[in-house]
Amino acid sequence: MAQGKLSGTYAVIGAVVVAAGAFAYTSYDYANQVARRGDSSLVETTRDIAQEKVSRIENLILDSEQAVLAVVDPSNLKDLYRRWSDISRASPLIESIIIVDNRGQIIPDGYLSKKPKAEGDAFRALFEQQIVRDLPLGTFQKLKEIHHFNHEYRGRPSLLALTRVDPKLIVILEIDLVYLLQQIFIDEFQAAHDGGRRVYQIVEGDGSLVFGKPFTGISNKYMVSLPFPQTLTSWRLQMARADAPRLAAEERARRFWNWIFIGVSVVTLFAGLAILLFAMRTEKRANELKSDFIANVSHELKTPLSLIRMFGELLASGRTKGAESSREYAEIITRESERLSHLIDNVLDFAKIERGKVAYDFKVGDLAEVLSRGLDVYRYRLDREGMKLDVDIEPDLPSVRLDENAMTLLLLNLVDNAVKYASDGKRLHVSLARRGNDVLLRVADAGPGIPADERDRIFERFYRSRGVRGRPVRGSGIGLALVKHIAEAHGGTVEVDSTEGGGSTFTVSLPVWSEPEVKEPSA
Ligand code: ADP
Repeated sequence: MAQGKLSGTYAVIGAVVVAAGAFAYTSYDYANQVARRGDSSLVETTRDIAQEKVSRIENLILDSEQAVLAVVDPSNLKDLYRRWSDISRASPLIESIIIVDNRGQIIPDGYLSKKPKAEGDAFRALFEQQIVRDLPLGTFQKLKEIHHFNHEYRGRPSLLALTRVDPKLIVILEIDLVYLLQQIFIDEFQAAHDGGRRVYQIVEGDGSLVFGKPFTGISNKYMVSLPFPQTLTSWRLQMARADAPRLAAEERARRFWNWIFIGVSVVTLFAGLAILLFAMRTEKRANELKSDFIANVSHELKTPLSLIRMFGELLASGRTKGAESSREYAEIITRESERLSHLIDNVLDFAKIERGKVAYDFKVGDLAEVLSRGLDVYRYRLDREGMKLDVDIEPDLPSVRLDENAMTLLLLNLVDNAVKYASDGKRLHVSLARRGNDVLLRVADAGPGIPADERDRIFERFYRSRGVRGRPVRGSGIGLALVKHIAEAHGGTVEVDSTEGGGSTFTVSLPVWSEPEVKEPSA
């Protein structure tokens, strides 16, 4: 039954541990989710703004291209030449117009550029020698469709827009990237536009910076990186909130406190469980000791009672062998009833102590007298056990404050133990002496001694030492607990000094009584 109850408790503890684990996991997961949701909503807004910027820039480029293409008439290039300065002013993003045939040859009057003369000529040469070979001209068959071509020549990036305007001619527009970077990007991304709340940069495919400043302390989590899908295909726009480093630090702090919170809760829970388990084990041990105690006390009561009854009946029936045996029977009856009353005294006093109802009747008295009277009761029993009793009482001992009955009980328990456990030693030495402000009562036997690891435990209630548990030595395990309680109630202590096989000495020290100081009434 008790076993079943205990395993049920262990099952509950197991369940609590599992629940604690689940609690720790879910709360951490929840905290993470909340943080992630917060982060992603921050990033979403940034992404929307970045997307809008990308579209605006691409539309600017595409619109400029469309506007220029609308006025290019390959059959009337003279007109284009004439209007070139107007066109380039209206579409500042277009730096050059190159018109080629299907073989990539620039047709007569097919090159117009805003570049200064020398630079323009150099670009034309570069185009004819190198760029045109890289252009996949043959693949553009559909009229009016614009294709973009990003490349780097002599260390400078270039963006070309290619459109077939008729089956024989292709118009190539060179986009002015310097203008794009220095005018349009600055306009679009200048801090003033959104109060410096966001930081921008344009990077190439390999991550090298084309525009803007390097991001410092901004984790990828808070950064949005978008391509220019139609025009500047080798560049990306990267954007983040300017306060991203602060957000990251806040998040780290939040995570840290989450861990601390979860850690503290789990540790508290486990500490609680450990305390519970400890309490359960202590309770279980106390219960075991209590049932041993009940068994011991019942046994202790039964034995003397049956002896008393048996010898009483023998005396009553008159079937004794003579006066000698009658005297012996009467002695047995007296001895056993003494033992019985000693046990009952012990149990009753112990019960009072346990219920906290014990009341001592302290009087200032002479411990030597109490000791002599107590030992007189015992002398006969010691004789019978063949034990020699030495008593040493220092003369002129100071008085102590004591409860005579309790002190006799204390003495009898110590002497009784010596008779029970140490009668092989044949000697018992009881002494009383002054040591400083204490009077020391010593009961020393020459018995088997007490193992070192049990010397403290023998004073616990119900504790009986390993050596006697299996042996038929009568006892209840409360004698020394009573001794300790009584000694402490008198403001004293009890200690045991023992060597295994070399006897035990129990020393009770009680404070010397001193007259309380009476204050002189002030005049
Ligand atoms: P009980 O004598 O009823 O068992 P006590 O509280 O008086 O209970 O003693 C506790 C234990 O201390 C005893 O079981 C015994 O093993 C040990 N003990 C007490 N006195 C002595 C002694 N003089 N010599 C050896 N062991 C002792």
